Amino acid sequence: MDKVRIEEVQSTTKKQRIATHTHIKGLGLEASGRALPLAAGFVGQAEAREASGLVVDMIRQKKMAGRALLLAGPPGTGKTALALGIAQELGSKVPFCPMVGSEVYSSEVKKTEILMENFRRAIGLRIKENKEVYEGEITELSPEEAESVTGGYGKSISHVIIGLKTVKGTKQLKLDPTIYDALIKEKVAVGDVIYIEANSGAVKRVGRSDAFATEFDLEAEEYVPLPKGEVHKKKEIVQDVTLHDLDAANARPQGGQDILSLMGQMMKPRKTEITDKLRQEINKVVNRYIDEGVAELVPGVLFIDEVHMLDMECFSYLNRALESSLSPIVIFATNRGFCNVRGTDMNCPHGIPVDLLDRLVIIRTQTYDVADMIKILALRANVEDLVIDDESLAYLGDIGLQASLRHAVQLLSPSSIMAKMNGRDNICKVDIEEVKALYMDAKSSARLLQAQQEKYIS
Ligand code: ATP
Repeated sequence: MDKVRIEEVQSTTKKQRIATHTHIKGLGLEASGRALPLAAGFVGQAEAREASGLVVDMIRQKKMAGRALLLAGPPGTGKTALALGIAQELGSKVPFCPMVGSEVYSSEVKKTEILMENFRRAIGLRIKENKEVYEGEITELSPEEAESVTGGYGKSISHVIIGLKTVKGTKQLKLDPTIYDALIKEKVAVGDVIYIEANSGAVKRVGRSDAFATEFDLEAEEYVPLPKGEVHKKKEIVQDVTLHDLDAANARPQGGQDILSLMGQMMKPRKTEITDKLRQEINKVVNRYIDEGVAELVPGVLFIDEVHMLDMECFSYLNRALESSLSPIVIFATNRGFCNVRGTDMNCPHGIPVDLLDRLVIIRTQTYDVADMIKILALRANVEDLVIDDESLAYLGDIGLQASLRHAVQLLSPSSIMAKMNGRDNICKVDIEEVKALYMDAKSSARLLQAQQEKYIS
């Protein structure tokens, strides 16, 4: 494996998991580090946001190496939202990979394998390519000129020789025989204007005017005529992928031989096995790209919710993985107090072994009052393009207080469908009441189970 393809990439990040957090754009802090009452999609939870802001500073100053963050607090208090906010504060292209502790238990795949995959989903790679576009006019060459600029290529094909005049003055460009074929196909004639695209000095493609501009994703008006043969436009193409994207693309059978063709394979995701050997090869290529200055590592955020679901094997893997130079920022979350480390009789805070706990920075999240809940619900309604009146919002706020914020947020979409069924575009209290009667929140479901225990099989 020599190179990796960088075109037509679609990241395989688990987008659906963060769908309910699309309103979160950062931590919403002032330059001084103070939390603004409502900013970047965040409401309240001021202390936890300020503490998270300090963690962002520590990450930037590389003081979090080998350590991790734990967000501890009741369900629906914005732990996932805080983790996402931290990732966004670190940069807009920083990968964010959310997972739940229980995901590691599968009958087919090893627990550590699943952790490793998620680690690699949270490590980004920014690949830079320099593309140059040359513009020129087709002119006739004398046989001597042709000889001097072609270096022997295509001497017998007259219009190809003509085409070469366009790169006069850029003789350092390495011309490939396929370019001649492309020129022949274009049926260029004297007086035609053509464009030549080169990538770090090597000619990649040729084409005509506007079609070329569209094809190469450059704006047509950028093609202001320049003196023949000079660099017309330089463009730095930046591609952001994760190590897991590269692993998955290369696990596919028909993978190409370079970093660019690897990435072309990402269009049709399919379940395949990623072996250790493959990962090592990818690491080798990636390291070379980093050494050559073509690529840069972008450590992201791995968010592990319900960390108490992990067992000893996972914790010892995590202890080691945190030490690695290729580690993302790991943020754990839990809503448990003291409990047993899964599979052992060791009683530890949050079900986390003490040696790992020692490496954690812990931030607490607090439950919201009804005013904050209403503000959060209004934000969600806004991003989901829903019209909802104040009375309905207050009613949903009460539901949030009794059940959980998450449950209240989740009732928004079905309520809007109910409103449509009732012949309206705006959500009214009656729609929410109808939906509330249909769906149970976790707390009332538990209460009901307890009351009717004798009716269920245990
Ligand atoms: P759990 O413990 O159940 O995993 P959680 O603590 O991770 O819950 P979230 O899922 O982050 O809670 O919060 C529930 C919903 O409320 C999400 O849509 C989240 O984006 C939103 N939310 C939570 N806190 C805030 C906040 N302070 N400002 C704006 N939106 C918030």
